[in-house]
Amino acid sequence: MTVSTTLVGIGIGRGLAVGPILRMPDPLPEPSDAASSQGTDAEKVRAAGALAATAADIRLRGERAGGAAQDVLEAQAFMAEDPTLKDDVNDRIDSGKTAERAVFEAFVQFRDLLVSMGGYMGERATDLDDVSQRVRANLQGVAAPGVPDPDYSFVLVARDLAPADTALLDLDKVLALITSDGGPTSHTAILAREKSIVAVVGTKGALSLEDGDTVIVDASTGVVTVDPTDAERAASVTALESRAAASTVPVGPGALADGTPIPLLANLGSVDKLDDAVAKGAEGVGLFRTEFLFLDSETAPTVADQEAKYTALFAAFPGKKVVVRALDAGADKPLSFLNDEPEENPALGLRGLRALRAHESILRDQLTAVANAAAATTADAWVMAPMVSTVEEARYFVSLAKELGVKTAGVMVEVPAAALLADRILAESDFASIGTNDLTQYTLAADRLLGSVASFQDPWHPAVLRLVGEVGKAGAALGKPVGICGEAAADPLLAVVLVGLGATSLSMSPAALADVRAELARFTTAQTEEFAELALSANSAVEARAAVLSAATPKHPNQHTESE
Ligand code: PEP
Ligand code: MG
Repeated sequence: MTVSTTLVGIGIGRGLAVGPILRMPDPLPEPSDAASSQGTDAEKVRAAGALAATAADIRLRGERAGGAAQDVLEAQAFMAEDPTLKDDVNDRIDSGKTAERAVFEAFVQFRDLLVSMGGYMGERATDLDDVSQRVRANLQGVAAPGVPDPDYSFVLVARDLAPADTALLDLDKVLALITSDGGPTSHTAILAREKSIVAVVGTKGALSLEDGDTVIVDASTGVVTVDPTDAERAASVTALESRAAASTVPVGPGALADGTPIPLLANLGSVDKLDDAVAKGAEGVGLFRTEFLFLDSETAPTVADQEAKYTALFAAFPGKKVVVRALDAGADKPLSFLNDEPEENPALGLRGLRALRAHESILRDQLTAVANAAAATTADAWVMAPMVSTVEEARYFVSLAKELGVKTAGVMVEVPAAALLADRILAESDFASIGTNDLTQYTLAADRLLGSVASFQDPWHPAVLRLVGEVGKAGAALGKPVGICGEAAADPLLAVVLVGLGATSLSMSPAALADVRAELARFTTAQTEEFAELALSANSAVEARAAVLSAATPKHPNQHTESE
């Protein structure tokens, strides 16, 4: 009997592909350290020419690729043009090196610097390696190492893909990507997500795969099955069909396998995409980001202006819950009419409800507009305050909303203090909605806008999940709804964990609804609780994700994992 082996990495998205392996060609060898025979001036001219030509070539690829790829390639072109790097190359040539050797050493030095910084910067090291290879290929007059171009479809295996390669992948031929290096924030992952390429990154043992090996690449589990049996191939076809069906079938309400309803709601920032949200089966709106309506306004919006917009919103969801968030101004979403003083640390400043309180008439106008629009439609209109950090703030907001005629008022839990006192905050509020984006930022002390700390911004972190669990417990004890409206709710497996921690509804970008709906339907309440316990007892986000993934993945009796 044939036995397959499996390799495990981090899956990006939920795609699945089957096909033969083709490996990226090996990189250029390290250039020799023999002294130059051409003289320093000639070597410097060669090096400068190769750096400039490489920058131009990468920039051209970017223009052809467009989108996020263009930004990434532009950044790579800048690396080739970096004046400090060029000075470093020239210094090395002055000490007798060839242009090839000087370029090699200068890039290695920069690379080591990035790697020592770790996280997001560390993941940029591959970009530098790629530029180095391209400059040296130019110097030697050979083709730059790149993606193979056979006349059949294949699964590409590489250490990590450089942006220049990923940007121009022929998506008709490349069925999937497997990399041995790189994490969830590497460019391979970012671009695979944007282009919906099936990808498993950071795959242990990937470089042992050989050209022609057949693999099943399952991004939803991060598992690569090598030399699959007939039964495994058949199972992958069935899985592919059921996933395709999950995203195309007319949609129903969100529910667990045991029938427990978990309403699936939409996150919206304008009234333009209402039809799309309804078509994708949103059972209401869990977060309407009102500040997005007024980002360009110099002056506070009037009651009439807001009322018209909220009426259009509510009218699209007759009889359904629609949660309007009061203006969340500050830090990543500044509004000139609410944030008047510059601050050193705007994320820790007068933002969210704090800024609204400092301009109470603006808050009063907004709540009045919501109450008026609610009265004109049949939607179940709720309001919530952003960035609440004390019990007193919750009390203040809820009583003001009721005074102005909004029937249901609650708070967002985005600050650890609010999660830790969730029982007392919920006693003052009709509901809580957890903003995992900010809750992660504040729990891990990692600016959500800063790439260099992006690896800390992971809502799978057990500290974040423990806080979510506190809110879930408080909600259950008081019989009050606890929603999730941060990005975490759009990660299908994490959504299951969040339900196990006590979330009673999930709100997300409409594009994520189908996958989350399909994933919830696979598990019972007891299983969600079991997964939540597993995630909570992990030491890190990576461990939590791996533990839950393994528990949630059906095991095939013939599979065993390759150990290295
Ligand atoms: C959040 O912080 O998770 C959230 C939903 O709010 P925003 O992303 O708009 O800050
Ligand atoms: Mg927030």
